[in-house]
Amino acid sequence: MPGKIYVLIDHGQGKIRGGSWEALALGQQIASGTGKTLHAVLLGQQTADLAGQVAGKRVDSVITAQDDRLAEYDPDAYTAALQQIVQADTPDLLLMAHIYQNIDLAPKVAAALGRGLVTDCIGYRLNEGQLVFVRQMFRNKLNADIKIHSEPPWIITLQAGAVPIDDLEEGSGTVESRSVDLSSVPENRVQLEAIQAMKGKVDLNKADVIVGVGRGIKKADNLKIIEDLAQALNAEIGASRPVVDNDWLERERQIGSSGQTVSPKLYIGCGISGAIQHVVGMKSANCIVAINSDANAPIFNIATYGIVGDLFEIVPSLTKKLRE
Ligand SMILES: Cc1cc2nc3c(=O)[nH]c(=O)nc-3n(C[C@H](O)[C@H](O)[C@H](O)COP(=O)(O)OP(=O)(O)OC[C@H]3O[C@@H](n4cnc5c(N)ncnc54)[C@H](O)[C@@H]3O)c2cc1C
Repeated sequence: MPGKIYVLIDHGQGKIRGGSWEALALGQQIASGTGKTLHAVLLGQQTADLAGQVAGKRVDSVITAQDDRLAEYDPDAYTAALQQIVQADTPDLLLMAHIYQNIDLAPKVAAALGRGLVTDCIGYRLNEGQLVFVRQMFRNKLNADIKIHSEPPWIITLQAGAVPIDDLEEGSGTVESRSVDLSSVPENRVQLEAIQAMKGKVDLNKADVIVGVGRGIKKADNLKIIEDLAQALNAEIGASRPVVDNDWLERERQIGSSGQTVSPKLYIGCGISGAIQHVVGMKSANCIVAINSDANAPIFNIATYGIVGDLFEIVPSLTKKLRE
């Protein structure tokens, strides 16, 4: 199954966005599984440094298109640039991170190319040599397998945290600059100001270590032992839905199908049963430690290490050991 995979690399404030590294990691996996070549696409202005960073990963090439009209995100200019590159090169896939910018861009590009789009995917598999993408449906109660029947290229956006950045392989690719003609793109928009996301919001995606707390904690007053453990590990606190529904912790800390999807290096689940709606949000953690008094709790099916016992005994003694 030869062919090419393209991955759009998003950036802002001189940095490549984490979601794009995840999309590139997915691209590497699909390339390994299918024998396709992998190419990153970087749109912008003065992006040589960023292109160098991407070329340091396992990619065949980094295609850069530089233009004043691409310096800031403009949906018309970005669509036109991608359309020109994709139509000239005819890749099979165009992968993007499922971030706000691409929620805007991906359908526009798909419509411009007249090709299929699968959004917010959590993974892929090969079914008899055909690519199948997995996305959640019906408020994430079902995982749907999506096979696209239209001609490639197919446009795919990837849910944040679905592929761990740690899976990204180093390598060395070439950097190839490409000219795009944006002279006929209407200048419909002027960017007034870029506003930072509100500070103080919890971004669990940035945490290397997360201590997850579930209904087993029983009441908000008991959270102190979880906070102590998190502090000893320099970790963020995540939660299952009942903890949030009970207002024991703020909503941003919820992990799962209706919360955040995370992929930390270490996830310690305390008093969490492992319901599918929680597990879809944290199963790609590198190492999962589960503490639960019920030896049959489903969380043990995905745990790297399982501790069967009372969290009110185990968590404080773990904290004590860590502090020592
Ligand atoms: C549409 C939909 C979306 C949902 N989205 C999410 C979501 O995003 N995130 C999410 O988390 N859930 C979500 N849920 C809820 C999900 O189905 C589960 O109900 C929830 O994850 C259970 O949370 P829990 O594991 O904390 O609680 P429980 O299932 O009640 O488990 C508590 C666990 O604590 C253990 N325990 C009790 N006492 C102790 C102790 N002293 N020491 C150690 N262990 C103890 C018990 O053995 C048990 O396994 C969703 C549900 C629906 C229908």
